[in-house]
Amino acid sequence: MLPLRLVASLVISGLALVLMGIVLSFAPARAANGTAPRDYGRDYNSSVYRYTDKPAPAAATAGSRTLTLYVDRDFDPAERERIGLALQQWNHVLNGLVRFRAALLPPDPSSQTLAQLRRSGAWIVAKVDSRHPAARERTALAMTVGGRGGGFVYVIGDRFATRDLTAVLLHEFGHVLGAGHDPHGHLMAPVYDRNNGHCIDRGAVAMVASAQHLPLSQLNWCVGPGLDDSRTSSR
Ligand SMILES: [Zn+2]
Repeated sequence: MLPLRLVASLVISGLALVLMGIVLSFAPARAANGTAPRDYGRDYNSSVYRYTDKPAPAAATAGSRTLTLYVDRDFDPAERERIGLALQQWNHVLNGLVRFRAALLPPDPSSQTLAQLRRSGAWIVAKVDSRHPAARERTALAMTVGGRGGGFVYVIGDRFATRDLTAVLLHEFGHVLGAGHDPHGHLMAPVYDRNNGHCIDRGAVAMVASAQHLPLSQLNWCVGPGLDDSRTSSR
C-alpha cells in the first residue's frame, strides 16, 4: 500500500518534447449504445466489476471537449497498452462529453516545445524514476501536476510493476479531470491498494462531473461488490 500524492507545483526537468504527435493505436474509446456493460480490469481479478453503458447524450454528438495527452516514448509497448486501457475506461465513463485523445511524443524533444505544449493546454504523461524531482515524496507512485491549462502526469516507473500501471493511471487521470482525494472513496482513495478491483466508481465520477460541470446522470461508472452505485454521494 503506497500513497499516491498530488502536489501543487514542481520543477520541470529532464523531459523535453516536440509538438508533432503520433496517434497511439488505442482501441475505439466508446462502446456501441445499448450493448451489455463491458468488463475491464481482468488483471485485478475483478471480473465481477462492470461499467454502466448509457446512451450517448445529445451534447456528445454536438461536439465534445478534447483533452490531449502526449505519452512519453520511454513507455514500452506493453506499458502504452496499459495507459490506453486507462484512457479507454475514462472515455467510456465520460460518454462523449469530454474525450481523451492520446499521442506519442517524438524522441529528443526540446524544452521550448514543452512550454508550447503546456500553453496549448495539453497533458504530458512522462515516465521518470526515483531520482526525478517529481519523486521527492518517497512513497508516491505517480504525481499529477497542473490544472485547467494542462500539465504533467509523472509516472515513477521504478516504484511499481507494469501490471499496476492501468490502475495507477486511472487514479491520476481522475486528478487530470479535476477530482481530488476521497478518504472514503474507491478509485480516488489517497492510498493505493493494489488488491482492490480498480475501476472508475461513482464517487470518482461524481467528483469529475462536479469539476467539469457535466451531468452525472449521463455519465457511466463501475458497479460491483463494495461499490456504492445507488446513493447520490460516495461520502
Ligand atoms: Zn492521488
